[in-house]
Amino acid sequence: MRLLEYQAKELLAQRGVPAPSGQVAATPEAAREVAARLGRVVVKAQVSVGGRGKAGGIKLAETPAEAEAAARALLGSTLKGLPVRQVLVEQALEIARELYLSVALDRAQRCLVLISCAEGGVDIEEVGRLRPASLARIPLDPFVGLRGHHIRQAAHAAHLPAELGAAFAGLAEGLYRCLHECDATLAEINPLALTVDGRLVAADAKIVVDDNALYRQPELAAWGQEGEEPYQALAREQGLSYIKLTGEIGCMVNGAGLAMATMDITRLYGSAPANFADIGGGARAERVLAALRIILADPQVRAVLINIFGGITRCDEVAEGIVAALRELRPRVPIVARLVGTNQEEGQRILGQAQVLTAHSLSEAARLAVSLARPAGGQP
Ligand code: GDP
Ligand code: MN
Repeated sequence: MRLLEYQAKELLAQRGVPAPSGQVAATPEAAREVAARLGRVVVKAQVSVGGRGKAGGIKLAETPAEAEAAARALLGSTLKGLPVRQVLVEQALEIARELYLSVALDRAQRCLVLISCAEGGVDIEEVGRLRPASLARIPLDPFVGLRGHHIRQAAHAAHLPAELGAAFAGLAEGLYRCLHECDATLAEINPLALTVDGRLVAADAKIVVDDNALYRQPELAAWGQEGEEPYQALAREQGLSYIKLTGEIGCMVNGAGLAMATMDITRLYGSAPANFADIGGGARAERVLAALRIILADPQVRAVLINIFGGITRCDEVAEGIVAALRELRPRVPIVARLVGTNQEEGQRILGQAQVLTAHSLSEAARLAVSLARPAGGQP
């Protein structure tokens, strides 16, 4: 579960990581009041997705009236498919340089890593891809934890001025403690701003809490739902794995491997997944209906691709769920289903009667879904 920026900053501030003065606001008027106290501000959309700056979700405001206008433009809009319900109004920083600092779980190395880079900010993914060597990834032995030499190595990689060594160390320790105490798999500050007046401030923060630890983090679990994609909670209740993505094909599958293959093939045919819901093994019609309800609620979905390989899952049961979804949800986009395995004949008969588009192979189904999502000559 990914927390919102203002939540992450609050958790970090409790552990001594400095963030700009600011407050979250849910109305343009409230944003104006905060700005009246703080002066020049940035108004930041609170949605649990990265790249807000490039998508227009971060606005600089010189006056309270500008802050109000910025908040009015952002609140109620959607950013990368997510509704903006709150904005963070923060004192604007005079940034001299943007650094990157995070602690993350590295599954391949089976330990936490401290990651730092001299080129933080919105293009960190590019930096990681084009110049991976400029990112320091420092493994942290779980029996040793974070020590001074790790921090000095990170500071060196970030080209940190020597006089900021102590401030940087305090910040790195706070970040590390935050990750542990919140059961997070990622605690990231990007950018870590080096201000014109020589301070280190977390200009942005991201914390991802391990979903498997939410049972012992009830406060974070409740808090985190604020920033969740609206249907995430419903998916969890229904025992579905549901992930929101940025493309246009809604995918319903059973099993993680099938999910990956299904998403890959939408890309192969020139599209991309908008989301996927994994109904797991042995799903009953009710769970299928819930999955389609969640998938179809995503306004970015332009076609649905259902890919089921029946083992313990029965194709007739899935087909019943699809038919129930058609009746109940009256989808505005086409649905293409490929059901094979246990009871496939019965499943296909049920879908045939309901006039659902079916295909025998995955590639046929994917090609059809992609072509329906992009009518000839139409824009994606
Ligand atoms: P993200 O795009 O979702 O990662 O949002 P960020 O909070 O990281 O903001 C994106 C970019 O906006 C940052 O990399 C900064 O360059 C800029 N930015 C954010 N806050 C401030 C601020 O207070 N002052 C200035 N000058 N730039 C800011
Ligand atoms: Mn950022």
